[in-house]
Amino acid sequence: MSIQQPKFADVTGFVEGYLGQIYQRQVNDSHTRVWCEQWWRHPEAAARLDALWRSWEQLHRDERGGLSHWLLQHADPHMDRLFDPRGTFKYCSVRHGHVDRIEPLKTEPSPPELVKGMAEGGPDWFYSTVVEFVEEYLTKIYRRQVVDVSGIVWCPQWWRHPEAFVRLEALWRAWEYWRTNASVGLSTWFLEHADPQMAKLFDTSGPFKYCDVRSGHQSNPSPLPITSELEGMFTEPPGLGEVIR
Ligand SMILES: [Zn+2]
Ligand SMILES: [Zn+2]
Repeated sequence: MSIQQPKFADVTGFVEGYLGQIYQRQVNDSHTRVWCEQWWRHPEAAARLDALWRSWEQLHRDERGGLSHWLLQHADPHMDRLFDPRGTFKYCSVRHGHVDRIEPLKTEPSPPELVKGMAEGGPDWFYSTVVEFVEEYLTKIYRRQVVDVSGIVWCPQWWRHPEAFVRLEALWRAWEYWRTNASVGLSTWFLEHADPQMAKLFDTSGPFKYCDVRSGHQSNPSPLPITSELEGMFTEPPGLGEVIR
C-alpha cells in the first residue's frame, strides 16, 4: 500500500471516524452552536466537509506542523461556519433533526444582451460564465435565510450591481483555479475568497442595501462622488513640496 493512500475512503468515513470525534461540542439545544446529523443534506456542509477531508489527507502527513496548520487554518474556520446558528444548519437541531427550510438564494435571469457581452471561461473551465457559476453552484451552496429577516440581504438581480458582478466574477475565476488543487483547493477557496466576498454582499450596508428578495431589485447605492483632479496634478509625478504648494 502506498503511503499516499487516503486514510478514509470518503468524506462520510472521515466525518464519522475522525472529525466528529475531534470536535466534541455541546450542540444539544444550543443557541450558540448548531449541528445537523444529516449534514449531507446541506450542500454547503457537504462541500465544506469534503474540502476538509481532502485537505486533511494531505496536511496531516506534513511533519512541519501540517496537522496543526490544518486544525487552525482549515478545520476551525469551517466548523465555526457550520456551527453558526445563522448558517446552513439554522433550522436544524440535534433534538428535532433536519428541517428542510432554507432555499437556494433566489436569482432572476439576466438579460441575454448582458450574457452575450460577458467574459467566457477557459477551455477546461467547469462553468462558461459567471452567471452559470452563480446560478448552478454558488447560490445553491450559500443558502441563507434572506427573506423577511434583518441583518442580511440579497438581491435576485445581483448582476445589476457593479460591485456584486465584479466580486462574483472574481469568485468564479478563483474557484476555477482552486478546484484544480485536489487537496487544499476548495477549502482555501471557501475561506480566503468565498466567505469574505459573500459577507460583503450579504452586508446590509453593502451593494444590496436597498434591495431585498421579497420586493426585488430597487436601486444601487450611488458611486463614490469624485471631482476631476486639479489640472496637471497627475501629469508628471510631483515632489511632495509641489503638491503642498
Ligand atoms: Zn439539516
Ligand atoms: Zn438589486
